[in-house]
Amino acid sequence: MAATLKEALEVVKQNGLKMSVQRKMILEYLYSHKNTHPSAEEIFSEISKKLNILSPATVYNNLKHLKQYGLVKEVYYQGGATRYDNNLEKHHHLICTHCGKIIDFYYSEPMKLQEVIQNEMFSADEAYIEIRGKCQQCASRDGAEN
Ligand SMILES: [Zn+2]
Ligand SMILES: [Zn+2]
Repeated sequence: MAATLKEALEVVKQNGLKMSVQRKMILEYLYSHKNTHPSAEEIFSEISKKLNILSPATVYNNLKHLKQYGLVKEVYYQGGATRYDNNLEKHHHLICTHCGKIIDFYYSEPMKLQEVIQNEMFSADEAYIEIRGKCQQCASRDGAEN
C-alpha cells in the first residue's frame, strides 16, 4: 500500500505505467495535499498554473489510471463533483454539507457491520461510513453571525 509519494511512484513503475510529467504532478499534488479530497477540477486548476499543456481531460484520464492501480480512491459527493482521496487506509468520512469539506476519521466495529452485510447476502467490495453535517468552522461562523 502506497503511503508516501515515493511508494506511489514505485507502484507506477512496477506496473509499467508510463510516468508522464502530468501523472507525476498529479501524484505530487495528491500527496502534498493529504486529506483534502480535491476534485479533478481543483487538481487541474492548481497544476495548470505550472504546466500549461495540461487539460481537464488529461487529469481525468490520469486519475482513472491511478485509481485502477489502487493509488487513489474516488469519493462520490452527492450534488457535487467526484472527489479524490489518496488516504488508502481504511477510514470513514465526515462530510460538511455547507462548505463541502471531507474529513477523514477512523472507527472500527467490523464484526457487526460484516454480520449485517452477510445477513443481506450481499458481497461487499467496499464499506465505509459517511456522516453528513456541519464542520467546526461552518458551525462557529454561523454562530458568530447570529
Ligand atoms: Zn464546513
Ligand atoms: Zn478520505
